[in-house]
Amino acid sequence: MKRPIDPKMMLEAIKYSNDSLEYAGIQNCVIDNEVRERFKKHQLVTATKIVPELFPTICKAADDVKNILAPEYKLEVYVKNNADFQASCFPGVNNSISVVLNSGLVQLCSVDELRFVVGHEVGHYLFKHYLYPRAEEAQNQVEKLNILALLRAAEITADRSGFVCVQNKENAFKAILKLATGLPDDFIRFNLSAYLRQAKELQDMGGDEYSLLHTHPACCTRMRALLWFDMSEVYYEWAGLGDCAPINACELNKRVTHDLSLASGFRLTEINKKEIEQALFWGVLALFVSDGCFSKAEQILLTQNFGESGVDIALDYLREFGPDAVINKFESILQSIRFVDKTSKRSLFEDIERFSKLAGGEVSKLETVLMRTANLMNFHQLAGK
Ligand SMILES: [Zn+2]
Repeated sequence: MKRPIDPKMMLEAIKYSNDSLEYAGIQNCVIDNEVRERFKKHQLVTATKIVPELFPTICKAADDVKNILAPEYKLEVYVKNNADFQASCFPGVNNSISVVLNSGLVQLCSVDELRFVVGHEVGHYLFKHYLYPRAEEAQNQVEKLNILALLRAAEITADRSGFVCVQNKENAFKAILKLATGLPDDFIRFNLSAYLRQAKELQDMGGDEYSLLHTHPACCTRMRALLWFDMSEVYYEWAGLGDCAPINACELNKRVTHDLSLASGFRLTEINKKEIEQALFWGVLALFVSDGCFSKAEQILLTQNFGESGVDIALDYLREFGPDAVINKFESILQSIRFVDKTSKRSLFEDIERFSKLAGGEVSKLETVLMRTANLMNFHQLAGK
C-alpha cells in the first residue's frame, strides 16, 4: 500500500464519526514515562519480545504496519503464551507503541491477517482510545450504555486502521472471521456474502438489546462496516484509487451508524431519545424559573411543548424542591448523556438556546443558565456565537 502524502490528516479522515469524545468533557492527558516503563517491564517479564533474529515473519508484518500507520514511532511487539484470541496495545516508553499478541491469535493468522490485527491495535493507540472511559466508571445505566457504544465506535476506527495495512483486503475480513469463530484456515472456505447473511438474520429478528452490553460490535457488523469503508472516498483517497468512490465520507458513517443501531434493534437510539427529551424539558424549566418565577405565559409554553403532564410535573417539583433545585436536576441528566453522539447533543443545545429566547425574566439570568449548560456540555464555541 502506498503511503499518502499527509499521513496525519489521512489518518484523521479514516476515523469513524461517532468515535469521538468531542463535547464529552474528557481532557487529553499525557501518560508519563514511569507508567510506560511499568507497562514495558510487565511485558518483558510476562511475554516474549518479537525481534527479527527470532521471529522474522511477525517482525516483518509489524514493520509494514509501522511504516504505513506510524513511521514516527517505534513499534514493539510481544507475544504472550495464551490460547485466547486476543491482542492489546499499550503506550510504550520514549515515543514507542507496544502491541501484545496472544500466541493463540498468532497461530490462527496468516502474516497478512497479522498485519490487520497489529494495524487494528496500533490504530487504538494513534486514535488515543486509551483515554476513553471504562463502562464500570459510569454513574448510571444510560451513561454506561453510551460508554459501551463509544467503545464499539472505537473498534470501527481501529478496524479501518487494520484494513489499510493488509496487502490483500480479503485477509482483513478473514482475520475478523477467525477471531469470531476461533477456527483456522482448514475449516474455512471464505465466503463473505454467506457470512453476512447472519447479520441480515439478526436484523430481521429485530436485533438484540444485549448487543448494547458488549465492548465490540458483532463480527458481521464489523465486516459490513469494512465493506462500506472499502467503497468509500476516504479509503479511495488513502489507497490512491482516484475520485470515483461509490460512497462519500458522510454516507459511509451514516451506513455504519445505521448498522450498529440495527444490531440492537435501535434500543439505544430510543433510550437516548427519551433521555434527551428529559434533558430538554428540565433545561427549559431551568431557563423559565431562573428568575424565581414560573409565569402563566411560561406554563402555557411548557404545555404546548411538553403537554399538560409536563406542567403538572414542573409544578409538583417546584412545590417540593423550589426553583433552585431545577438546575441541579437538569445538570444530572446532562451528565448521563455526555457520551451520546455529538450531533444529538448539538441539536439539544440548539433547542435549549431557542427556548432561552422565549423565556421571561432577566436576560442576564437566562444567559447564566445558558452558559452553565454550554460549559457542562462543552459547547463553548456554540455558546459564544
Ligand atoms: Zn480493538
